[in-house]
Order: sequence, then C-alpha cells, then structure tokens
Amino acid sequence: MFARDVLLGRHATGPRVLVVGAGPVGMEVAEYLAVQKKQVTIVEFTDRFGVGQEDGHLYWVMETLRNLGAVLLNCTRVEAIEADGSDRIQREGQPGLLGPFDNVVLAAGYEPNDEIVQQLRARMPAVQVIGDAVKPRSAVQAIFEAAEVARAIQSSRLTPPFTKCLRCSTFVTTRGPHTGRG
Ligand SMILES: Cc1cc2nc3c(=O)[nH]c(=O)nc-3n(C[C@H](O)[C@H](O)[C@H](O)COP(=O)(O)OP(=O)(O)OC[C@H]3O[C@@H](n4cnc5c(N)ncnc54)[C@H](O)[C@@H]3O)c2cc1C
Repeated sequence: MFARDVLLGRHATGPRVLVVGAGPVGMEVAEYLAVQKKQVTIVEFTDRFGVGQEDGHLYWVMETLRNLGAVLLNCTRVEAIEADGSDRIQREGQPGLLGPFDNVVLAAGYEPNDEIVQQLRARMPAVQVIGDAVKPRSAVQAIFEAAEVARAIQSSRLTPPFTKCLRCSTFVTTRGPHTGRG
C-alpha cells in the first residue's frame, strides 16, 4: 500500500508494518503508525533519515519514533517481499531477512503524472504547470509558484514581481515598501 492512502485513512494496517523509504513522507507515515501503537520498521537506502525535513521537526519525529520502539534501518535496501510477509533485504551489502510484516507501506518517492498537461497543451498554448505537478517538493514552493503565475496573469508581465526579503526571508512584492509583516 502507498503512504498517502495510509495517511488519508483509506487503508488500515495490521500491527506489524514495514515502511519503505525514510524521506519526509516515510518519516511522517512511520510516526503516524507508531503513535497508533503499531510495531514500525522503517528502512532507508541511503545513510540519512528525513532528508528534506526541517531539522527541528525531524528531531522530534526521530524522538517519537525511538520512544515508541520503532526500528530505523539506514543503508538498507528492500530486495523482495516473500510470500510469508517477510522482506528480503540488503543491509550495507549483506543479505538478510526482516519481518514478517502484516503490511508494507511504500514511501519511496513520487513522480508527477503529466498526461493531462500534454493533452491540454495540444489544445491551448498557455498552460502553466506549478507545484508538485512540476516535481514533488514543498507546499511553500507550490504556493510561491502559484503566486508568481497569478501575478504574471494579473499584470501580464512575464517576470514575476517577487523577491525574497533578506531580513525576514519571506517572499515579498517588489511593487511597494515591505512592512516586515510578510
Ligand atoms: C505526507 C506529506 C507531508 C508533507 N509535509 C509537508 C510539509 O510539512 N511542508 C511542506 O511545505 N510540504 C509538505 N509536503 C508537500 C506538500 O504537501 C506538497 O508539496 C504540496 O501539497 C504541493 O501542492 P500542489 O497544489 O502542487 O499539489 P497537491 O497539494 O497534491 O494538490 C493537487 C490537487 O489536485 C487534485 N487533482 C489531481 N489530479 C486532478 C485532476 N485530474 N483533476 C482535478 N483535480 C486533480 C488532487 O486531488 C489534489 O487535491 C508534504 C507532502 C506529503 C505527501
């Protein structure tokens, strides 16, 4: 099953869950399940957990996972899922078995589906693609790109009238004085 289906409550899991992928989504779904008292194991192919997550938030997610007894395995690649629910893995190059698990939750990354973009572009020239439809990133990025397009449409200017404030790091309009309130 996929992480988003678990987080949206579309699928319930059994008590023993393997989460594949420890990016922000994997960490979030692992925490969500651990808080529900599931026995969570999270495996990550690289040597780092939560890459892309804000440091302070990641610290508390890691604390929660450890306190709730979740098992975090880095440098581990899932090779195959066996019929009995166990998982064949490679950990730092060494083969091994994990589990068995009742469910495997995949959080190994997203790719945009641009089928609809191609269809629309065949009918109309000015189709703007923003947010995760370009590439899955963050809500902040999606909102910024939406604001850029909205401003460009409103003013019919091609260059977006936004810049990043050096003092407070918010994106501000270049058209008037910045009040410091974002
Ligand atoms: C578990 C998780 C945690 C996250 N946490 C953070 C975080 O803490 N901070 C952060 O900045 N970002 C976070 N993100 C990323 C953030 O959610 C996304 O980057 C952001 O939602 C992208 O916005 P969007 O509008 O491009 O896409 P979405 O928010 O995915 O919105 C797209 C919408 O379009 C709808 N849709 C899709 N296809 C069609 C269609 N054919 N017709 C009509 N509607 C359609 C979808 O149902 C959806 O409602 C997280 C993502 C996940 C999955």
